[in-house]
Amino acid sequence: MGEKIYFSYRMIHRTIRKLSEEIRDSRFTPDLMVAIGTGGFIPARIMKTFLGIPILTVGIRFYDKNNKLQSVPEKIQWIDGVEEKLKGKKILLVDEVDDTRTTLEYCLNELLKYSPEEIAVAVLHKKEKVKNGTIPEEIKRYYCGEILPDAWCCYPWDALDIDEHERIAGKAQV
Ligand code: 5GP
Repeated sequence: MGEKIYFSYRMIHRTIRKLSEEIRDSRFTPDLMVAIGTGGFIPARIMKTFLGIPILTVGIRFYDKNNKLQSVPEKIQWIDGVEEKLKGKKILLVDEVDDTRTTLEYCLNELLKYSPEEIAVAVLHKKEKVKNGTIPEEIKRYYCGEILPDAWCCYPWDALDIDEHERIAGKAQV
């Protein structure tokens, strides 16, 4: 994939504020977030500033450390006492980007096993492309901060040199 899009912390914070307002305006009142790690951790933490609800975390790996796609997602961390924590609850599942949708499909199907009242999805970015995964029909709410073309998103938390990263992100915004 050739094209890259750089995001600064400021851009992400603003998008999440807007996304949180959209969730509140829709009158969905989640009891808790489940953040998909590691990309969903920082977006969920920023969202907590606006929504004020707790965060549980799960670790799903779909890309290896060289950003190569694995054939299936893999659970590398799950929720302790998951039954009692999720049963009858309204959950907001948070991730940074809906790319092929495989991770979201996998995670939603896993979480639906614990009889929550409702699960909604919130992603910072959605790539406009043909998806491999599907959102299960039980899921009625899908919130997304920004719709993007099918390019590689460069997030500030992945930057080795944050000044250079923010410089590129800032230039692209002009
Ligand atoms: P999906 O299962 O939707 O293909 O991908 C989900 C996961 O892959 C995301 O949670 C994210 O960790 C990783 N991913 C997919 N596309 C990108 C991207 O453009 N940039 C980054 N940094 N990670 C991505």
